[in-house]
Amino acid sequence: MDQAARRQFLQVGLATSAAILLAGCEGSGQKATGLPGPSWPSESSRRASQPRPAPPQAQPAPTGLPQGVQARTEWTRSGPIAALADPMGRIGRITIHHDGMTPFYSVNKADAARRLESIRNSHVQRGWADIGYHYIIDPSGRVWQGRPINLQGAHVKDENPGNLGIMVMGNFDSQRPTPAALNSLDQFVAMQMRQYRLSVRNIYTHQELRPTACPGRSLQAYMTQTRAMSGRMARA
Ligand SMILES: [Zn+2]
Repeated sequence: MDQAARRQFLQVGLATSAAILLAGCEGSGQKATGLPGPSWPSESSRRASQPRPAPPQAQPAPTGLPQGVQARTEWTRSGPIAALADPMGRIGRITIHHDGMTPFYSVNKADAARRLESIRNSHVQRGWADIGYHYIIDPSGRVWQGRPINLQGAHVKDENPGNLGIMVMGNFDSQRPTPAALNSLDQFVAMQMRQYRLSVRNIYTHQELRPTACPGRSLQAYMTQTRAMSGRMARA
């Protein structure tokens, strides 16, 4: 290609890399080995025209919204692209993430809503059905609905079936989670553990399943502590 075409090619390439790094925890592990491509095979490689696999035999996940959770209609007008999503099977584990973007401290509801929509947009641009996570916790401790739980998430490459994805907004390699967010995280995860009959042994962080920096040093340290025998999540 000539000089101009090559320059344009490089610019597009750079813009694409920047977009991938910008949104979603998977881009936060810059030294991660086997950095994933722009999309999960389980979602992007499937075309709408392909036959849908039969739902797992296990009981389907209930679709009701837990008490106190902000419905997705509070932050987006868009629904999931159902043809790109797999149905959620029996929920057998939960994985905790950060968004890995710029540090985020705002307790303003509209700020959180905008950040959610930007994450959803970047995930949809990767060819996903919707935002990858099922629930999101903001710095004020609000819990937001992400992808409806009747749909499998897109938050841990190759480990999404039966895996409920919960993300805490912010970058916990460069900030600490707020006490309000941690309080909400403990309570909400404990509620989900009761709902799906899980124990703390079924609660993971992203980096415990895949090579990534997610959910950041300070949230990883907190998760280790809160799941330990005398920790708040373990006692909840
Ligand atoms: Zn993650």
